[in-house]
Amino acid sequence: MAHGEPQKIDTVIVGNGPSALILSYILHGHIPYYDKCSPHPDAILHEKLLRLGHDLLDLDFDFLTEHFSGSRFSYSTQALPLNVLLDTLVRPLGETDDAEKKTCIRWAYEPSRAVAHVVIGQARSAGGQWVENPVRASLDIGTLSYAGMISLPGYGFDEHYQRRNGRPMPVYLRPSRRAVADYVAEYPYQVGIADSIRNGEHVEGISRRGDSFYVASHNILCKNLVLASGIFSEVIQPRPLLRPLVDLLANQTEPSADPLLVIGSGFSAADVMISSPPDQKIIHIYKWAPSTSPSPLRACHHQAYPEYAGIYRRMKLAASVSPKHKDKRPKYGRIMSGFESSRDWNATYEGLPNTEVTGVQATDNGLAATVTLQGASKNELPFQRQVSGLAYVVGRRGSLNYLSPVLLGQVLPADTGSQAASAGMISAQTLREKANEDLEVAPHVFIIGSLTGDSLIRFAYGGCAYAAGKIMRNAAESDQSKEELNKPKSNGVVKVCLGEYETPTSSPKIPAMNGLDGHESSPMSLVERSYMSLDRRKG
Ligand SMILES: Cc1cc2nc3c(=O)[nH]c(=O)nc-3n(C[C@H](O)[C@H](O)[C@H](O)COP(=O)(O)OP(=O)(O)OC[C@H]3O[C@@H](n4cnc5c(N)ncnc54)[C@H](O)[C@@H]3O)c2cc1C
Repeated sequence: MAHGEPQKIDTVIVGNGPSALILSYILHGHIPYYDKCSPHPDAILHEKLLRLGHDLLDLDFDFLTEHFSGSRFSYSTQALPLNVLLDTLVRPLGETDDAEKKTCIRWAYEPSRAVAHVVIGQARSAGGQWVENPVRASLDIGTLSYAGMISLPGYGFDEHYQRRNGRPMPVYLRPSRRAVADYVAEYPYQVGIADSIRNGEHVEGISRRGDSFYVASHNILCKNLVLASGIFSEVIQPRPLLRPLVDLLANQTEPSADPLLVIGSGFSAADVMISSPPDQKIIHIYKWAPSTSPSPLRACHHQAYPEYAGIYRRMKLAASVSPKHKDKRPKYGRIMSGFESSRDWNATYEGLPNTEVTGVQATDNGLAATVTLQGASKNELPFQRQVSGLAYVVGRRGSLNYLSPVLLGQVLPADTGSQAASAGMISAQTLREKANEDLEVAPHVFIIGSLTGDSLIRFAYGGCAYAAGKIMRNAAESDQSKEELNKPKSNGVVKVCLGEYETPTSSPKIPAMNGLDGHESSPMSLVERSYMSLDRRKG
């Protein structure tokens, strides 16, 4: 805990992930404008933006996006309108354009508009969750997004690829997590924002003090607080019965012939299995309810995401085997992907849908354990397996426990009664309702990035532009006359596009993103969309 006179700074950003970096880039004075020389292919949007006499930090996004739902352009309906708007301006052709790299945004450097700020994040280098790897997954696993979709402003992933590899980036590349971590770590130096970023530092004890915020861990006073701490920093822990299984792996000095128990039905569980050696035996317990609560892996097309589709296929096949034939392994008829044929699934994978661990008994001097398992049907007899360890991968959450209880109460929705949320266990849903209303979730407290419920990097631009606009206006207003202070406002957004189009509507209530939301799951859909968007450009 720091002592002495607090350092005063306009804005503190908690978290050093991609959204914090985008916001810092803007707050350094890099201002996005609509580039009329590179018009958006949506003529209605283009027409509206032509009337905009200023930057993209101060937008009536309801007005600008109100035609999206009926548009011939396939705008995402899964992200917040302002995030969809900035995303389509950054990359008007979306995933269909991986080579052309068209953009409708021109970034102008206006240092006079810069706002003093500091980004403080616990990841050891810039990049947030891309740098942390709390799950036992290989850093060589490919990203869900194509490289073009994870680029930050001013220094794209393609530029970084060229620097590192000495050759242009191939189109439709899904870079490894390692490559993305390397890119985001390098980004602050390349765009000149490293002076504002403090990595490897944990923020604690933020409370309101008068019209400012006091950050106790760093002895800082600030006017604006931006929460960019994400929803992935905390791994959901197993219940007490399972905890001894987690410790088994730490006791082992050499690989065990016993199977690894993997519990989880999503991407992280799949990542653990993909990362394990091909001869590693795996017992996989997962929730299987395809009609009510399907695994997010179901959306993975076998061409675009062969590893995830391959794991999903194993899960589906295991679920189709009747309980009384549990000890029989299913036979596979279809052609297998390279990933699938890289291991002998019959010998190494046992899928146990909707199965519960009811007992754990340590064996082999704490190097292994016998687990007692109960299938979904209570008519089945319990059965046992010997395991060498547990990967419990049922999800991750964020935490806001760096806010004082009073401030946390202001940030969380009024009806958040659950102990988990009050203790700071934040999911994509927790703040979604408030994000639908306003990303300024309490006076001078903003949320950006995955905390808004739009977890993809491509959708972080909108929230960052919005927060930056308000922070810059606040900074300018504090230097201006009272007359300036009383500018008319609406829902935190200054109405700038007056005229025949101005029929403001409130944003529709959009649920938070999950799984592959925001991605094209199949290369075919990309091909179809690229034909469609070519057609549309004619019209
Ligand atoms: C396994 C996985 C794969 C993904 N793949 C993709 C993909 O392919 N494409 C894509 O676009 N998105 C992907 N995402 C989504 C991810 O949310 C975004 O890529 C991006 O990281 C979100 O950025 P962010 O700035 O919101 O937060 P994060 O990247 O989550 O960073 C927030 C940081 O704040 C830190 N923090 C939290 N509390 C404190 C505190 N008190 N003090 C200091 N620091 C704190 C956290 O530890 C974390 O390092 C993936 C997510 C996961 C988990």
